[in-house]
Amino acid sequence: MNCPKCGRENYDKTKECVWCGANLKNPFQTRQKPTISTPSFNPLPFSPNENASPKQRERLIAGLLGIFLGYLGVHNFYLGYRDRGFTQLFLSIFGWFIVVGPFIAGIWGFIEGVQILSGQINQDADGQLLL
Ligand SMILES: [Zn+2]
Repeated sequence: MNCPKCGRENYDKTKECVWCGANLKNPFQTRQKPTISTPSFNPLPFSPNENASPKQRERLIAGLLGIFLGYLGVHNFYLGYRDRGFTQLFLSIFGWFIVVGPFIAGIWGFIEGVQILSGQINQDADGQLLL
């Protein structure tokens, strides 16, 4: 039989036109591929808060880092104060020859941690206020 849609020759027993894919019993309904529903995927683990600047740092985190890891300068790295952070890090690593180096760095970091928590240090190296 001929396909009623495209007019070309098909075997009588085929259900679909080999030329245009038309259904020979219902010629104007072409076979449709099943639509694959892609689930909406959000790559971010949390939805960003549009009000808060994405670079804004948390005061509590910075303060606790200063108190507990201040001798390594971690809180200063967190806030972007790299020079101060490196100074504390080097004091801790290479300050042993003056014995008190790591203690100075630790006390220094601890004081900065308290200053961060109490609001005396209120912004990061970029001038952004802490959360
Ligand atoms: Zn056809």
